[in-house]
Amino acid sequence: MYNPKGLIQICKSNNIFPENIIAAFSASKLNYDYRAESGNEVLKNRKDFFRQLALDLDNAVFPIQVHKANVAIVDRKDKGRGVFSFEQGIAQTDALITNVKGLVLCLLTADCLPIIFAESNGKAIGIVHAGWKGIKLGIIEKTIQAMVDQFEIKSKDIKAVFAPAIGSCCYEVGPEFLEIFSEDINSREQTRFLDIKSLAKKKCLKSGILSASITDVSICTRCSNDKFFSYRAGDYLKRMISVVAIKGE
Ligand SMILES: [Zn+2]
Repeated sequence: MYNPKGLIQICKSNNIFPENIIAAFSASKLNYDYRAESGNEVLKNRKDFFRQLALDLDNAVFPIQVHKANVAIVDRKDKGRGVFSFEQGIAQTDALITNVKGLVLCLLTADCLPIIFAESNGKAIGIVHAGWKGIKLGIIEKTIQAMVDQFEIKSKDIKAVFAPAIGSCCYEVGPEFLEIFSEDINSREQTRFLDIKSLAKKKCLKSGILSASITDVSICTRCSNDKFFSYRAGDYLKRMISVVAIKGE
């Protein structure tokens, strides 16, 4: 499954997304976040990642993620936002959606769940930064609803991929989480673990996505900390990247 170039492409051969969708996430300890290190290094990593996917970095769009539930409808005018500096990203935004060909929706994470959406005929795409706060605020449902409303598609036609995130094996949480997400807390030896992927799957199903249309790559960022950044493993600033685009100009 691992690509030697340090990324994993969610490709057509897995029968997950339609042929005109390019979706991928990084699988290396190369950092993609300007807040962690020199801009030159980050820009080089971003350029290399995009080159491997034959995508144009100038067409990328990055949000400034804040663990809230704002969804941005991305258009051509947003092209390049957040590509060359953190501050120019789309402010206060944790989900991006578009139906514009060629735009590359990007997300940076280290443990939080990146969810990539694509309509089954490739008419529209979305990407969501799903941490527990955003999920609690309804970001998954809001993103799916925005795609349905904006692009006149049906939620049953949306396919979802869960990119690497911290698993219930490693996501230890405090007792206060029992009140918020009781169904998705597993207790082992008086310690509580949140299953954020199971929680996210329920939100997708609630919004009308079919169970068979949800693919979890089943990678725990903390268990696989040799290839993925994990906040819980001490990667406080460095981030992996997830991207999705509709092919074309
Ligand atoms: Zn784990």
